[in-house]
Amino acid sequence: MLLAITQGNLLPLSPSPLPFPRQASSFRAWGCSARRRSPAPFPICAASEYPTPSAPPRRLTRGFSSSSSSPPPQPDHILPDEEEMEEADIGMWIGEGNGEGRGQKKKHLSELSSWGIGGPCRYFLEASSPSQLISAVRYCRARSVPFLIVGKGSNCLFDDRGFDGCVILNRLNSTERTGPGAYRVGSGYPFNRLGVECSRDGYSGLEFAGGVPGTVGGAAFMNAGANGQETSDCIESVQISTTQGWVRVLDRDDLTFGYRRSCFQEMEDLAAILAVTFRLTPSVSALEQQRRFLERRRKSQPLGEKSAGSVFRNPHDSEMSAGQLIEKAGLKGFKLGGAKVSEVHANFFINFDGSTSRDMRGLISLVKEKVHQKFGVELHEEVRYVSYNVIERVR
Ligand SMILES: Cc1cc2nc3c(=O)[nH]c(=O)nc-3n(C[C@H](O)[C@H](O)[C@H](O)COP(=O)(O)OP(=O)(O)OC[C@H]3O[C@@H](n4cnc5c(N)ncnc54)[C@H](O)[C@@H]3O)c2cc1C
Repeated sequence: MLLAITQGNLLPLSPSPLPFPRQASSFRAWGCSARRRSPAPFPICAASEYPTPSAPPRRLTRGFSSSSSSPPPQPDHILPDEEEMEEADIGMWIGEGNGEGRGQKKKHLSELSSWGIGGPCRYFLEASSPSQLISAVRYCRARSVPFLIVGKGSNCLFDDRGFDGCVILNRLNSTERTGPGAYRVGSGYPFNRLGVECSRDGYSGLEFAGGVPGTVGGAAFMNAGANGQETSDCIESVQISTTQGWVRVLDRDDLTFGYRRSCFQEMEDLAAILAVTFRLTPSVSALEQQRRFLERRRKSQPLGEKSAGSVFRNPHDSEMSAGQLIEKAGLKGFKLGGAKVSEVHANFFINFDGSTSRDMRGLISLVKEKVHQKFGVELHEEVRYVSYNVIERVR
């Protein structure tokens, strides 16, 4: 059977027995008992409750409900690179990461993570076009296989046992200048490269991005920011795919953001951010500013080491930043197994010698505890934990 994307309609796949076994219990495993919803794509969570952001993300109401009473959502958009993919081809393609297809070895999440931590994926694929990504999402959904979108893995702590589902590595690398200061960028495009290019073109808004080693999709999802700038400041619209495989374009008014928070983190029906359109303002000093930010970063952050950037958000109830609190608690350089608190920047934790996820989590817990004991301040993670399977999900 063909998975066809024709005339803007995404046709459903019929389930086939290969290569995934059906996971009948996965709806429950995703923690949805009252309302039967589609398997959530991201079995990721913060280990603790986040502080309330200034503008709390709200659930989107534009046709994202998957309950049977709502009308079926219609796609807003026709994919630019419509392709047909044989279902069997997707199976083969996904199976390759499994280590059983075409003699390939299993893909380890450590290869996809800036921390260099994480065990094998059950299934793995790289998506280099929106239609490939959506085909894979629909394929996983039809078989109730959990899936996870990974950009550069620069804000995730993966499990030592890996991920018991399908990891989709985002390679949607298109860029297009659609007008003066308007950039429509594929979500897999390197955010740091975008920051440099826009600044070089003489546009301001993403100068900070020159030092953020993630993807555009990861930056929108996390609302990455630094130096007083945030990704959301210059987002005009975002194209997403839902777990049902519909493509939608969300305008800025449809979206809410807070400090390292976005409505994407709460959106039940989100499969993936596909593309982001940015609107920037002309500036003669953008390039100089971008270089200044990068220079400052080089001096204050351990950029050559395996880290995930800031481990904790800056607390809203303290005058001190998370890094200052950790430093003042005397924890700079503190080691646990192969993980340590950076001597350069105390909010950066380093995999200096084969750290396991367990080492890193242990270090994170210990630092939280010590800071709380000394200052009465509770730190909250900015990094996201990706558990092996949904049953072990931490809330
Ligand atoms: C040296 C260093 C410096 C850093 N500096 C900063 C900084 O200054 N400011 C800052 O905010 N962060 C910083 N970070 C953290 C990190 O780079 C950012 O959070 C970045 O935006 C994450 O992007 P990513 O592609 O790596 O996301 P990943 O780590 O791959 O994913 C993060 C989360 O986003 C989700 N996601 C990713 N892409 C998509 C998509 N297309 N659709 C849906 N969900 C998606 C993932 O499922 C996951 O939940 C730094 C990290 C490092 C290592």
